[in-house]
Amino acid sequence: MGGTFDPVHHGHLVAASEVAARFELDEVVFVPTGHPTFKQEQEVTVAEHRYLMTVIATASNPRFTVSRVDVDREGLTFTVDTLRDLKAQRPDAELFFITGADAIEQILTWKDAEELFTMAQFVAVTRPGHALSVDGLPGDRVHVLEIPALAISSTDVRERARAGQPVWYLVPDGVVQYIAKHRLYRGQS
Ligand code: ATP
Ligand code: MG
Repeated sequence: MGGTFDPVHHGHLVAASEVAARFELDEVVFVPTGHPTFKQEQEVTVAEHRYLMTVIATASNPRFTVSRVDVDREGLTFTVDTLRDLKAQRPDAELFFITGADAIEQILTWKDAEELFTMAQFVAVTRPGHALSVDGLPGDRVHVLEIPALAISSTDVRERARAGQPVWYLVPDGVVQYIAKHRLYRGQS
């Protein structure tokens, strides 16, 4: 599951859990982006904080792990590179790339789009406020999964932290504490 995870929240975790159950996955690898291609205009928290919050959030689930492939790679993050690296580490694995409805619509604009569909199946999770259109995407490689609607976004969590409003129960407890300890999201939107 790829994402900026700035910070990781319960919407991400529920989506991952639902996809794992539906597709009988052995493992869900959370892959925090290094330098997100579609967020170049935005301030993004340093990768190490985003990576560690994702580790904290997933630590109690034996099927959830976190990969550093994107945070350790130089340059912008492209999903084709993510999939190549994961494939190299797990040569026998059948890969499913989990992403949100908003991201899948941009998929045809991603680097090496045709190759992507040969490397993994894609699971688009629905998200409140985003109607999903998969027209033009190969139906046998792209799956759409309805997940329980959780109207949580990282943007909202950052704005709340900045305004001094509670973020309890939107993100895991350890992530609430990590945000407070490192005073994240105080000076940015
Ligand atoms: P931001 O508000 O900073 O864009 P975000 O909440 O969208 O953050 P991302 O890290 O961008 O989080 O999300 C990674 C993936 O998880 C995206 O493809 C996104 O659509 C999906 N996602 C995020 N929040 C939810 C949610 N509440 N329900 C379902 N999918 C979600
Ligand atoms: Mg987003």
